[in-house]
Amino acid sequence: MEKILIVEDEEKLARFVELELKYEGYQVDKAYNGRDGLELIKTHPYDLVLLDIMLPELSGIEVLRRVRQFSSIPIILLTARDTVVDKVTGLDGGADDYITKPFAIEELLARIRTVLRTRHLPPPEVKSRVMTYKTLELDSEKREVKVAGDIIHLTKKEFDLLYYLMKNKNIVVKRESALDKIWGYDFVGNTNAVDVYVRHLRTKIEEPYNLKVIQTVRGVGYLIKDE
Ligand code: CA
Repeated sequence: MEKILIVEDEEKLARFVELELKYEGYQVDKAYNGRDGLELIKTHPYDLVLLDIMLPELSGIEVLRRVRQFSSIPIILLTARDTVVDKVTGLDGGADDYITKPFAIEELLARIRTVLRTRHLPPPEVKSRVMTYKTLELDSEKREVKVAGDIIHLTKKEFDLLYYLMKNKNIVVKRESALDKIWGYDFVGNTNAVDVYVRHLRTKIEEPYNLKVIQTVRGVGYLIKDE
């Protein structure tokens, strides 16, 4: 049974929604202010939260902001004021939907069903597969690299080196560890190979696009660093 938390200071409205939701087969908890609501979300595994914006103690927007720091739980905002500001702030803040009071209970139920259903869909793009840096995109599954939307043709080793640097973003990759990882422990030669391949990469992904991706850490190795 799916569990829904209602955070709403208008107790009459909260009780009415609670009864309707229970009738539909949901389990329901209630909180009458933002602080209690936040505490319940932290300590209970809800499937969805109905969150009023105008709340005592903590506003709904503030509760939303704090919840999004630790959870992607579906949240539908309840707003009394049909203002653009509320909607934009709420949706930018990570709300899944909003509904303006007064609302028809059927409309609320429909939105709850939609949010709960889409929650189970995979995200449109699997995050771990495509890594990005500025206008560079690296798809580790398709083994495809794009810069500013152009597909860049890389050799296997060039791709592997770029992938390794992207995977270790913000960490200095030593020449030795890149060699070991990409060329293998039995590589006979010197660490200049890494420099050569970094130069190839720069020719392909940086120079034509006037883009800085790989930084040199003198005497150590290379780094892709978020700015
Ligand atoms: Ca309120």
